Amino acid sequence: SYENLTGRTAVVTGAASGIGEAVAVQLAERGARVALLARRGQRLDELAGKITAGGGAALAVVADVTDDASVSAAVQRIHEAYGAVDLVVNNAGVMLGNPVDAGRIDEWQRMIDTNVTGVLRVIRAFTGDLVAAAADGRTADLVNISSVAAHLTFPNYAVYGATKAAVTYLSQCLRTEFGPRDVRVTNIEPGFVESELRLHNDNAELSEQVDGMLEAVGALSAGELADVLAYAVSRPRHVNLRQIMAMPTRQA
Ligand code: NDP
Repeated sequence: SYENLTGRTAVVTGAASGIGEAVAVQLAERGARVALLARRGQRLDELAGKITAGGGAALAVVADVTDDASVSAAVQRIHEAYGAVDLVVNNAGVMLGNPVDAGRIDEWQRMIDTNVTGVLRVIRAFTGDLVAAAADGRTADLVNISSVAAHLTFPNYAVYGATKAAVTYLSQCLRTEFGPRDVRVTNIEPGFVESELRLHNDNAELSEQVDGMLEAVGALSAGELADVLAYAVSRPRHVNLRQIMAMPTRQA
């Protein structure tokens, strides 16, 4: 059973599809007001419409986590509409696979900018809100979506794995600064989850490989992963599910 999230205000990055979309829906269903961030405004508008029609509260905010001005404008928009935030889900990410010899520094840079610097930028944007909420006696959560790729190795995804290892390590380090101030840091490492993530690969051979692995072991639905996240942020505030690896049972 879930404690409800009524009265809480969440931000979910990468809410235009996949895990982020499912997380936004489930947080809203449990009573949180949810700011939806991503670059595709139409997707966000549709999602906000769906949540609102279901009796929830959602705000679509077009934002690119790789852009300072865009994130600052998003913060302002959210503060105007909802006030301070107490639940931040750092979910926006890209996964681009290629052998390291291909030397795709363009892809490496995109992954680092989005998966690492983007996460840091969003943390910077909302740290003040989280610390203030916790000081006020309210539950405050920072949730980072890393990946099992932070630990398990996959050929041709070295740089993606490195960005996710950075996220997991960052979560660990942040707890030393945030934990004593009652801001909970939850690091979630999903295995295969059904989403658009692998469709952005421009190497057809690699895409087939991933499809093959996925077919062999299956994948969690985005909703199943969102359910795990909703559970973690619904615990009493002194209980921190710090590290969660959520994988299909058959994934090795
Ligand atoms: P999706 O591709 O469906 O979702 C990624 C989301 O991030 C999209 O909504 C996208 O929206 C958004 N996004 C990408 N770049 C930016 C940006 N610069 N600024 C703002 N938003 C951005 O894939 P998933 O749902 O699978 O991915 C979500 C997270 O889960 C990622 O961090 C991924 O690494 C992680 N993950 C996924 C796994 C899986 O098997 N699916 C396994 C382990 C981890 P838009 O393009 O509109 O900006």
